[in-house]
Amino acid sequence: MKIIFATSNQHKLKEVKSIALSGIEIVSLKEIGFEGELPETHETIEENSLEKAEYLSKKFNTTCFAEDTGLIIDAINGEPGVYSARYAGENATFDDNVNKVLSKMEGKENRMARFKTVITYYLQGNYVQFEGITEGEILNERKGTEGFGYDPIFVPEGSTKAYAEMTLEEKNKFSHRKKSFDLFANHLQQISV
Ligand code: IMP
Repeated sequence: MKIIFATSNQHKLKEVKSIALSGIEIVSLKEIGFEGELPETHETIEENSLEKAEYLSKKFNTTCFAEDTGLIIDAINGEPGVYSARYAGENATFDDNVNKVLSKMEGKENRMARFKTVITYYLQGNYVQFEGITEGEILNERKGTEGFGYDPIFVPEGSTKAYAEMTLEEKNKFSHRKKSFDLFANHLQQISV
């Protein structure tokens, strides 16, 4: 079964493609010739995930899935949350966003945070969502060079390493994205029997 992943983020694509799934082939937007930006205009991760999936599904008249992810940090009222991609401004880089988190977290004792991913599977006007959450802590400084986004400052519960110190295989043992994807894959397997 071929299924389109509505993301223009090559890091997310690589991660999802690394999760081996029997019988499911992930097709990227590039492979279907779409090079634009997907809309992300809402105030919640759930709504943005749905918006991306619905937009692409309607544009190409096809079944697809999208995901939206946010980093939620307790000590700064849940920021950056739904604004994770543009925390330090519209054209912010990963580095800019990490710097903003590090500066807002300076001196904070409570380092608790979580990554939340919501996948939306959209087909024929209907949709289902799958949530993956990984609890963890925010570091005082960057560690590691792997991954993307906030990976250098997030240590998942049960590990002493930041995501950015892990191989993709190791990250998948803890990853919020992997958790949501496993639920999604399970759903696909159930509806195809
Ligand atoms: P969005 O889901 O495309 O809106 O992405 C939100 C932002 O969260 C991304 O631009 C990254 O900065 C960050 N992000 C999403 N997933 C991860 C992850 O697995 N590790 C680190 N940062 C992430």
